[in-house]
Amino acid sequence: MAQSAALLSRIMASSISATVQAGKIIRNVLNKGGLNIVEKGKNDLQTEADRCAQRCIITSLSRQFPNITIIGEEEPSSCEVPSEWIITEADQEVLQLKLPSHLEEVNPKDVCVWVDPLDGTAEYTQGLVEHVTVLVGVAIGEKAVGGVIHQPYYRKDENSTYVENGRTLWGIDGVGFGGFTPKPPPEGKRIITTTRSHSDSIVLSAVKSLNPDEVSRVGGAGHKVILLLEGKAHAYVFASHGCKRWDTCAPEAVLRAIGGVLTDLHGECYSYNRETTYANTRGVLATAPGQSHQWYLSRIPDEVKQKLQ
Ligand code: AMP
Ligand code: MG
Ligand code: MG
Repeated sequence: MAQSAALLSRIMASSISATVQAGKIIRNVLNKGGLNIVEKGKNDLQTEADRCAQRCIITSLSRQFPNITIIGEEEPSSCEVPSEWIITEADQEVLQLKLPSHLEEVNPKDVCVWVDPLDGTAEYTQGLVEHVTVLVGVAIGEKAVGGVIHQPYYRKDENSTYVENGRTLWGIDGVGFGGFTPKPPPEGKRIITTTRSHSDSIVLSAVKSLNPDEVSRVGGAGHKVILLLEGKAHAYVFASHGCKRWDTCAPEAVLRAIGGVLTDLHGECYSYNRETTYANTRGVLATAPGQSHQWYLSRIPDEVKQKLQ
């Protein structure tokens, strides 16, 4: 079965296994201490966990899929990769999915995989571990088609302990999803989720324009989209150019798989082909299934849109 599965299914199935191993690395680094924090830029941190998790994912995927493009957030490093970091397993459920014909025969040259080995690094360094996700997004041509969002630290409710090996949410646009149960957000109120560590006056004015009943400030693009998947927020807005393609590719694909939408603040989709630029300079707006994306777009003030060209 594994040999005959389509390229997209094999990449998704291997990505699920690789993110689980990356999650183990992220927990081990924190348990041992010694995060070795490097400041990549203003308000932009990298830890030993970001570096090691990326090496695990990219080495595992590039050995199995040498002809596709893989772009990771962190600079490539030549450090040795321990053999237990190289994943050859694949998720059996995803491997056996039936794909529509246009996804069955994909040219490896058209595939670009976007890897954020640790989304929510600021929160990770502050001990807010439940905000952390590992993101692998699979683009075909310009479109985000498949996504894996792994949470290394997950508990079913506030009183329970962390689930061993975390949890892994995945979705393929038009095909299916797994690892979570979609839930609609509550009716009669509007909950907006946004950044907790990269805010400024423009970010705040976009949130305010949506007239929220509640604002949920959490770390990471992956975590915020999980709130949309599970009915804990109606929309995610980020009026800033700080997010990158590796932050949004996987979340966009998973959200789209259940009928949600992610665009820039002008309503255009980002392109995820290998030649594209990395920065999401026109901001991010994501809405849960059933929400009018257009309504949210229409509320964003023109002066905010003008700042995000
Ligand atoms: P946040 O919602 O602040 O957790 O941001 C979502 C993702 O975008 C995280 O990976 C952040 O690191 C990244 N990000 C947002 N703003 C910036 C920024 N100003 N500089 C660097 N990365 C950013
Ligand atoms: Mg990130
Ligand atoms: Mg990251």
